[in-house]
Amino acid sequence: MYPDVLLFVDGAWTPAKAGRKLPVVNPASGDVVGTVVHAERPDLDRALEAADRSFKEWRKVSAFDRSKVMRKAANLLRDRADAIAPLLTMEQGKPLAEAKGEVLAGADVIDWFAEEARRTYGRVIPARAEGIYQLVVKEPVGPVAAFTPWNFPINQVVRKLACALAAGCSVIVKAPEETPASPAELIRCFADAAVPAGVINLVYGVPAEISGYLIPHPIIRKISFTGSTAVGKQLAAIAGAHMKRVTMELGGHAPAIVFDDADVDTASRLLAGAKYRNAGQVCVSPTRMLVQERVYDQFVSGFLQHSKALKVGDGLEAGTTMGPMANPRRITAMETFIGDATQRGATIQTGGHRIGNKGNFFEPTVLTDVPKDARIMNEEPFGPLAVISPFGTFDEVVTEANRVPYGLASYAYTRSAKTANAIAAAVESGMISINHHGLALPEVPFGGVKDSGYGSEGGSEAIENYLNTKFITQAGL
Ligand code: NAD
Repeated sequence: MYPDVLLFVDGAWTPAKAGRKLPVVNPASGDVVGTVVHAERPDLDRALEAADRSFKEWRKVSAFDRSKVMRKAANLLRDRADAIAPLLTMEQGKPLAEAKGEVLAGADVIDWFAEEARRTYGRVIPARAEGIYQLVVKEPVGPVAAFTPWNFPINQVVRKLACALAAGCSVIVKAPEETPASPAELIRCFADAAVPAGVINLVYGVPAEISGYLIPHPIIRKISFTGSTAVGKQLAAIAGAHMKRVTMELGGHAPAIVFDDADVDTASRLLAGAKYRNAGQVCVSPTRMLVQERVYDQFVSGFLQHSKALKVGDGLEAGTTMGPMANPRRITAMETFIGDATQRGATIQTGGHRIGNKGNFFEPTVLTDVPKDARIMNEEPFGPLAVISPFGTFDEVVTEANRVPYGLASYAYTRSAKTANAIAAAVESGMISINHHGLALPEVPFGGVKDSGYGSEGGSEAIENYLNTKFITQAGL
């Protein structure tokens, strides 16, 4: 059964002071399955006070002990994966196997950052005079405000939360109102692992009201946001005005480049799999398939075959390989992108329509002959919509890959080591995966360039975003 989700403030599950709550809707049926409490100023003030007070204690807990508590939370999350995954599917729509994979991957993220806690090394710099010690030490930046979206309700929270805790920070998480139960269960694992009261606070509410209050607040020292580029720019501007540290994981429009010496069948199979994962609502989803002319027809035919083989349905039903989109806004977005592209001459190779009138189901859709000025070639699709375009030369495809302001993920397929090296160097993106799909593991960097944001949410780079560098120079007496 789906719960009525509460706030978690200062170590207690609590309703909002003003008693506000909103319905949570199952995207597969359109039915209300539960509710989520909406925080307002008095709730945020309590969370801020708790984050401030507890930070002063949590930063003193040794990295060794922080790491132990975190590992306990990771194990609880693993133990509870079978119970949490159906909640995630009911609120977000993705097939149950994908939901369970997300929960288990969340546990791996916690383990990774638990280990990173013990590796927040400083340095000793050789001094210019005898008896002088020049030390560089790392300190937690302070209470963090983390804003996370609905496409990966657990994964988006756990990357920020685990990293902040590892660094010694306290956190206020503003989790997604549309998918509130699974992030609440994630936080329950930390609470049950005995993270001290106040170190983690969980709120939901009107996003702009919460960010508008928390980001400028003097208690908050660091902001982390995942979501659209448009909102990210607004939040980064507020953070900049108040001199707050920022990590921004924003939208993408990933080019997937298939050269004519590639294993084309593998490329079409892996790219279709990646495209329709989570119904395309993934920031690193391959969105512009750019295929060299000689193998274009072969690639289109393979990609279509995989697109047509998907079984779209309720994520809780056995055999479903693609669920509904998470909210009705995505249906409108798909229809707008497709209408705009076809008006400009695009061909619908398969799909193109909503399925039924209950739930947010949409056909896996492939467009070809799409001109560069179509909206879909310039705005993040965030849905089960693939565009395939031919290219001639290496230089031509690099120009197209780098044409848009986004720079998150990119993909390439080639059998030539020389071409692989050249494309890795030429593409403007924070990540590139060549001849396989290997992004987003806890131990590798995850982040973008250009309008896709800054700061990494994975690898050894991630924890730096939650640490201040202090220089200490000391002379012997
Ligand atoms: P949106 O742009 O309004 O919201 C995106 C996310 O940002 C949501 O989680 C929302 O709660 C949050 N948000 C919005 N305004 C905010 C504010 N002022 N302060 C704090 N948080 C705020 O619209 P949407 O319909 O939810 O999503 C639309 C687009 O967002 C998608 O098409 C996609 O491009 C992008 N998106 C990206 C990711 C990602 O993983 N990078 C995730 C979700 C959505």
